[in-house]
Amino acid sequence: MTRITKNFTLEELSHSNTAKAKNIPNEPGTVEKANLVKLAICLLQPLRNLYGKTMVVNSGYRSPEVNRLVGGVPTSLHMQGKAADISCENPRELQKLLVRSGLPFDQAILYDDGRNNFLHLSFNEGKNRKQVLYSKGTRP
Ligand SMILES: [Zn+2]
Repeated sequence: MTRITKNFTLEELSHSNTAKAKNIPNEPGTVEKANLVKLAICLLQPLRNLYGKTMVVNSGYRSPEVNRLVGGVPTSLHMQGKAADISCENPRELQKLLVRSGLPFDQAILYDDGRNNFLHLSFNEGKNRKQVLYSKGTRP
């Protein structure tokens, strides 16, 4: 196991249930790994420290094939290791906390539509837009 920060490992940021179920490789390359490390160090762990509660990574790195299978957009930063979908007790609270924190991020997309309940977070060094967004069906 490769621990990146106190609460996040490279393995959980590369794990994919879909890849496992379909027996498809989902192994990040050197560049993607470096991006996952940055994501954890610059965004996920500082946010975890503020939140003080469990944050579970549903989906971090996705190979192009896995991204297609899960219905990710073709430009998804998940394929570069720059995004993670986070489940926690209250993703809406986590999104608010992130906005207040002043931490850098590219997009924070809340999925809270009765079917999904997670927060998509991305970190894109030098291009962080701090966009706060809501999925279709999620009230702002
Ligand atoms: Zn996502």
